[in-house]
Amino acid sequence: MSAPITPEKSRPEKSAQLFARATEVIPGGVNSPVRAFSSVGGTPRFMVSAKGPWLTDADGARYVDLISSWGPMILGHAHPAVVEAVQVAAASGLSFGAPTPAELALAEEIIGRVAPVEQVRLVNSGTEATMSAIRLARGITGRKVIVKFAGCYHGHVDALLAQAGSGLATLGLPTSPGVTGAQAADTVVVPYNDLEAVRTVFAERGSEIACVITEAAAGNMGAVAPLPGFNAGLREITREHGALLVMDEVMTGFRVSPAGWYGLDGVAGDLYTFGKVMSGGLPAAAFGGSAELMSYLAPVGPVYQAGTLSGNPVAVAAGLATLRAADADVYAALDANAARLVRLFGDALSAAGVPHRVQTAGNMFSVFFTEDEVHDYDGARAAQTWRFPPFFHALLEAGVYGPPSAFEAWFVSAALDDDAFAVIEKALPGAARAAAAAVTP
Ligand SMILES: *Cc1c(COP(=O)(O)O)cnc(C)c1O
Repeated sequence: MSAPITPEKSRPEKSAQLFARATEVIPGGVNSPVRAFSSVGGTPRFMVSAKGPWLTDADGARYVDLISSWGPMILGHAHPAVVEAVQVAAASGLSFGAPTPAELALAEEIIGRVAPVEQVRLVNSGTEATMSAIRLARGITGRKVIVKFAGCYHGHVDALLAQAGSGLATLGLPTSPGVTGAQAADTVVVPYNDLEAVRTVFAERGSEIACVITEAAAGNMGAVAPLPGFNAGLREITREHGALLVMDEVMTGFRVSPAGWYGLDGVAGDLYTFGKVMSGGLPAAAFGGSAELMSYLAPVGPVYQAGTLSGNPVAVAAGLATLRAADADVYAALDANAARLVRLFGDALSAAGVPHRVQTAGNMFSVFFTEDEVHDYDGARAAQTWRFPPFFHALLEAGVYGPPSAFEAWFVSAALDDDAFAVIEKALPGAARAAAAAVTP
């Protein structure tokens, strides 16, 4: 291995220059907001290469990656089998606008892993998958209302950007300008892990509700697992009222087990959305369900959905190679690496005397600076989030690249090795002290 520069020995000068240039031509300098470091401050690192558990930035500094591209890179970066599959696919033509054997193989791989899914349609992003699943649910049921949970993220679909309104069964208000009242009006937002709230909404509007959409385990308010019985309760309530249950496994799918969260709790949704891991780092995603439900989609049925680049052969090759390489050893390594990190984080934060909970949802985890277990978005927001920026920056400067937000999950790869853990172990005590020393703004 070449002698890496550690970040503390290099100021992020090139990244700073690139960021200044980027802000001239790209809004906020980034193509997805969290990358701008807005909530932690400082200079986003511009990455130039990655291998295994390591990221290298434009200044030549090397980091242990605990984001894994927000989930997809379960094998680590530039895994040889994935790189080779992509190279072979690329050399055979980048896009045909016609069906291919490879997309069929990826569909079969997904269906083989998640029992309730008999058919899938490939799309290009998780956002497209949830948008299409919602349209399908409305088309099948002939109903318009969607129930979602505060703090769950399903991509930037207009109807799903509706956040916590002013209470139960209140119409969701758009949290983003550009989302009209009409687009948000049919979305009801309820607290996560609150079955009573769901029952109340169904008691009032059950016959209007097309679907409940939930993250199979929440990862977008930090890692917040469903309480025992929560997903099963959703299953029961939706079935009783003839509504569909949409399990969003874009984040959990093929990460927390070979069959995603479904593999852990066995609660079957009607429709599923997948992304991230299933495309191995290239843009592809999918939605699926029983053959009966999926038969409502064009060209078989009346619900329209399409995509010029859907099932793209290069993206499909990356996804297929990733899933095929993700054997029992990989899943065991993901779980073991997450468990080891959770222990290390917890020990360091305890030693520094800072209130914290390191919460898990399968092998995703999050650091909440609070004494209380977090079950919902209000709980996540009640934590001492002002302790997060110094914690984050101390880790970054010591060569550990975590998510630049207190409300995101941390994602391990199977490629984390002893060298990577050594960097993390060295970084944690200082980061924990920085969190402990933080003062309320
Ligand atoms: C990331 C994510 C999405 C959106 O996927 P994109 O590919 O970013 O559009 C949807 N749902 C969940 C649960 C996610 O984590």
